[in-house]
Amino acid sequence: MLSFTSLYSGSSGNCLFVESNNAKILIDAGVSLKKIEKGLDSININPSDLDAVIVTHEHTDHIQSLGNLSKKFDLPVFATAKTFDAMPKQTEKISENNKNNFNVNEKFSIGDIEILPFQIPHDAVEPCGFTLFSDNKKISIATDIGHITNDILKRIDGSEFILLESNYDSNVLKYTKYPFKLKERIAGPTGHLSNKIAGQTINYLIKSGLKAAILGHLSKESNFPELAYQTVVDEILSDGTNIDNFHLSVASRDFPGKSFTIN
Ligand SMILES: [Zn+2]
Ligand SMILES: [Zn+2]
Repeated sequence: MLSFTSLYSGSSGNCLFVESNNAKILIDAGVSLKKIEKGLDSININPSDLDAVIVTHEHTDHIQSLGNLSKKFDLPVFATAKTFDAMPKQTEKISENNKNNFNVNEKFSIGDIEILPFQIPHDAVEPCGFTLFSDNKKISIATDIGHITNDILKRIDGSEFILLESNYDSNVLKYTKYPFKLKERIAGPTGHLSNKIAGQTINYLIKSGLKAAILGHLSKESNFPELAYQTVVDEILSDGTNIDNFHLSVASRDFPGKSFTIN
């Protein structure tokens, strides 16, 4: 069994939950501690029961309350050495025995979940996405991606489920009030993934067995949930792919979503 729940996902903060037969993992802690406790409570999880918090990268929307969460509940944190160094204010709150390093492209395990971190093009020191394996099931988490590389496709290929970034709509981004530099960063090769590319990626993955996807890390200013959903559906249908048995949904920035379980 492998189960996924998006507690919160968006440019304003990210916190995801994965559970297997004997392990419970939080991916990122990018919202307030209060919100994390509330989100976990809504799915009947006590924070002390978490086996680990694993970190994608050091941007605030992924680590806002990481240090306090680890400290309050004595939770092990897993990140790359470079990422620990890049977030000193969080790292200093984490006790030495709760700091665990992983290396990109090297598998590590938490209980019966095997995790393979893979490199993503994003403007952080050592950002990564994750594929998680348990019970012969594979799921992937991939957000904060400037562009899709062949390596990413290879890593996420064969997943039955993915939480994939669908950050912005190119036209909406053009007309937002953001300064030009910020627009350039978002749409640049180490920024974020557009709805259209998310759609093309999901279309590719459906052909290798993807059964469900949740669109995540939506921008508040340059996207709308309905637009992200429709753009992705249009991309998939434009290739003639059948989506009758495919589950697509959009993660909320403010509320925990439905859990998705693969048995
Ligand atoms: Zn980021
Ligand atoms: Zn982010």
